[in-house]
Amino acid sequence: MPTLLEKLQRVDPDYYTPEVVSPMEACLERIRDLKRARNAVILAHNYQRPEIFEVADFLGDSLGLSLDATRVGDAEVIVFCGVHFMAETAKILNPAKRVLLPNLAAGCSLADTATGPAVRARKEELRDLHPDLQVVSYVNTTAEVKAESDACCTSSNAVSVVRAMESRTILFIPDQNLARHVAQHVPEKTIIAWDGYCYVHHQITADSIIAMRTQFPGIQILVHPECRDDVVALADASLSTSGMVEFAKASRAQEFLAVTECGLSDLLQIQVPEKTFYRACKICRFMKAISLEDVEESLKQNRFEITIDETTREGAKQALTKMFELTGGSRDNLALPRSVADE
Ligand code: SF4
Repeated sequence: MPTLLEKLQRVDPDYYTPEVVSPMEACLERIRDLKRARNAVILAHNYQRPEIFEVADFLGDSLGLSLDATRVGDAEVIVFCGVHFMAETAKILNPAKRVLLPNLAAGCSLADTATGPAVRARKEELRDLHPDLQVVSYVNTTAEVKAESDACCTSSNAVSVVRAMESRTILFIPDQNLARHVAQHVPEKTIIAWDGYCYVHHQITADSIIAMRTQFPGIQILVHPECRDDVVALADASLSTSGMVEFAKASRAQEFLAVTECGLSDLLQIQVPEKTFYRACKICRFMKAISLEDVEESLKQNRFEITIDETTREGAKQALTKMFELTGGSRDNLALPRSVADE
């Protein structure tokens, strides 16, 4: 078994020195003790800092963690190491449990592009032209936006959800890049996109991908569907974060470029150490807001507790339940990876 220092140095040997990692080991022990004492579980998103992975009971992408949040058994406390909308989702699905977000700076600029009143107003406007309109919202939305939606989706199942909706006209909220990707895969429906985008994925340019392809010919390029159209067009596969992990493990290829938030490249390097992952990634400041010290303080002081009014929670739960019904809770990927199809 590799030591914590060895694991973290695989990710970043310059940052994770013995002086940095040693206090982390002590903090990790205190967190493990607090988890036992509080009957708590920790859910962590793939983009978190790698030291957080060490105390996570569940690790995954948005869909995986939404499902995991319903499987925490008799745990009384859920500490959510992700961003605010994810912790809200855990609360929506587990109203009886205390859900904590260790740092309130862990928001999401994509989720913030849509509010409940703005979505309600847009629905009213569009219903005059499209009486059959339905709303599908990406899980990267607030609880009040989910409550205005007919169904939720993740990047893993967006195509399946939209295809299975009763209506032929869908208002897709809030990511315009994912909306475009869905429209390409479900041409029989009219997709009206919200104009939001993820600032992290939007910064990645086609030129940077072409430069990597030129420098490392034969590399497998895995792109998140929140990226721009011209970046997705250069990929060998467009996949959710968990889809990328599964792809890298299953593929015969040895070298990859993960085009997404940098936390996933860290996780890939830890989980698939025998392969090489180059980076064309960007750091999300929201996803990196939570530190080990925040997790410890959260467990000690119950901070910061997520609360949602019951009407909003019920409405949001219906939209999430619809997603689970339409997909059978499956983690089907957005598009069949070309290179997997080839193998
Ligand atoms: S990477 Fe950051 S900004 Fe982008 S959707 Fe995720 S949490 Fe939001």
